[in-house]
Amino acid sequence: MSVELPEAKILAEQMNKELRGKCIESYHLQDYERLQKIGMLNKDVNDFEQLVKGEIDFVTSRGNVIRMKLHNEMSLILGLEYGGKIFYHTTVKTLPTKFHLQLHFCDGTMLTVRLTSMGIIQALKDDDLEHSYVFRRDFNPEVPSPLDETFTFQSFSKHLMHNNRMLKSVLVGKDAIIVGLSNSAFQDIIFRAKLHPKRKASELTRNERRSLYDAIQLMLRERIQLNGKYQFYDLYGQQGRYTPAMGPHMKRQVCPVCRTSIEKLHVGGGYIYLCLTCQV
Ligand SMILES: [Zn+2]
Repeated sequence: MSVELPEAKILAEQMNKELRGKCIESYHLQDYERLQKIGMLNKDVNDFEQLVKGEIDFVTSRGNVIRMKLHNEMSLILGLEYGGKIFYHTTVKTLPTKFHLQLHFCDGTMLTVRLTSMGIIQALKDDDLEHSYVFRRDFNPEVPSPLDETFTFQSFSKHLMHNNRMLKSVLVGKDAIIVGLSNSAFQDIIFRAKLHPKRKASELTRNERRSLYDAIQLMLRERIQLNGKYQFYDLYGQQGRYTPAMGPHMKRQVCPVCRTSIEKLHVGGGYIYLCLTCQV
């Protein structure tokens, strides 16, 4: 499953709580050659050497991306993107055999990171963070995060009114007006907002814009509160309890609201499951 804004936030907050102030004693990389080939991990693995002896200032997230900031002007950027796991260990007994990065801390605790699909593991100097595509994409202060205090209905509404693209490209992908939403979250949101994915942002009524804003807020907050999506595991291995209102699990099902059969539509480079009666 894709790790999106809610899951990245859950992991970053747990990591911040457990790891802040800890010193990195050593690292261990394995099975990373394929990741390097497709640009998912530093070309030179010696870059990770600079994390050693670094003390963790804080761990934070924005959009889908997690940043572990060290006091020695280094950062570890983790983007689980289309799938991955980050676990915390207080004993070697729980260490998994499969991982890409393992960090050992001075107090004997450990962290393991494994990507199960496309994603990013990068050790970077703070000055070079802009070289990271995912960091540039999600930590760009000019693109609001739906969890920012400044992300109000008024500001969102203004963005929508001046945008004549389809909702999908307005909310998801490289030209999105907010960070952190993927195709999966999008299906869930527009079902709740009762909107068709091909509607143009500028053509929405004020009420429809309000429904869309509320659906984004509700989905994110519920998903954070329920410890992420049901396929997600947090830092301690606890499974998420959030089931999206709409998505691939609704294939061959009927709409829970009106009993119409759920349809699958190809929109902007991905499939969207939807109810053509409710979503207009
Ligand atoms: Zn329906």
